Amino acid sequence: MAEKRDYYEVLGVQKDATDDMLKKAYRKLAKKYHPDVNPGNAEAAEKFKEASEAYTVLSDHEKRAQYDQFGHAAFEQGGSGFGGFDFNASNMGDIFGDIFGDLFGGGRRSRGGAANGPMRGSNVRTAVNITFEEAVFGCTKTIELNLRETCTTCNGSGAKPGTSPETCTKCHGTGRIVTTQQSIFGMIQSETACPDCRGTGKIIREKCRDCKGTGFVTKRTKLNVDIPAGIDNGMSVRIRDKGEPGVNGGPRGDLLVEVRVARHPVFERDDINIYSTVPISFTTAALGGKIRIRTVDGEVEYAVKAGTQTDTRIRLRGKGVPSIHNRERRGDHYVTFVVEVPTKLNREQKHALKAYAKACGESV
Ligand SMILES: [Zn+2]
Ligand SMILES: [Zn+2]
Repeated sequence: MAEKRDYYEVLGVQKDATDDMLKKAYRKLAKKYHPDVNPGNAEAAEKFKEASEAYTVLSDHEKRAQYDQFGHAAFEQGGSGFGGFDFNASNMGDIFGDIFGDLFGGGRRSRGGAANGPMRGSNVRTAVNITFEEAVFGCTKTIELNLRETCTTCNGSGAKPGTSPETCTKCHGTGRIVTTQQSIFGMIQSETACPDCRGTGKIIREKCRDCKGTGFVTKRTKLNVDIPAGIDNGMSVRIRDKGEPGVNGGPRGDLLVEVRVARHPVFERDDINIYSTVPISFTTAALGGKIRIRTVDGEVEYAVKAGTQTDTRIRLRGKGVPSIHNRERRGDHYVTFVVEVPTKLNREQKHALKAYAKACGESV
């Protein structure tokens, strides 16, 4: 413990790292060195502990301030290593819960809790295609997908009706095998899923025919998805409780519907603003005049000013995309005028243009 590494160095961050940066750095290390990922690797276990310790201290503002002032000495009163604060598995769970929760896939089961207790089902992802206008104004789409439902024949037990699952004798129904290991932090317990019952805590002797013992059946399901106005390509709509069913009475996961917005032939979008290009004749550009411009609200009339140059950009206020975050707000539509030079002139037009050139003192 004498040559303890600097906590910032351990996490590979600067001294002024924000909470987010610390978390990110720790996540990376934890993912790499977590004992579940490196079974039996003592060096990885040591690295994991080192990173966890550094993160425990630096993620706590008070401890971090002490550490910044006194270094490791801040926590070494009495020479007992972690004299200054508790470093035990129970508060590790609190601190790391949200990190490990999604690091190792899904179920926000607290470590050490009942393994075969209620567990939330995982989220399901799907996608839906919509048009540019549907994204701007919102829409309702019907999607069809395979959703897992609790089997009604066996009520989700997986056992043939009239029979019931037996408690696994290897894990005594806990679904977990616990091993205890001595470490510098005291006794560390690690858990693995029971191989006999695959973590369920139950053994099914006679399987339900309808679900083949899984307790779930897959059903083709139609769902209406309300897509809010202002949604953008790649965003997802969350439909609560339409993901995978929970286990042992846990709640269902959510369904996340990713929205794919088609490109529009005329409009381009950047956040809440719309952009388009509109050709105008060179006479309109020179003399000014009324034109009609296509917007997502339909055509609007616009008075082009005399002497408008090509690439002039104008703003149609409030003709953009409604903000998905604030219903009151709506973006603008920017129109770039492109002055078109005629390519085919009849005699009369040529004559008129020559007269124009003469009036300008040009020789044509
Ligand atoms: Zn069944
Ligand atoms: Zn078991």
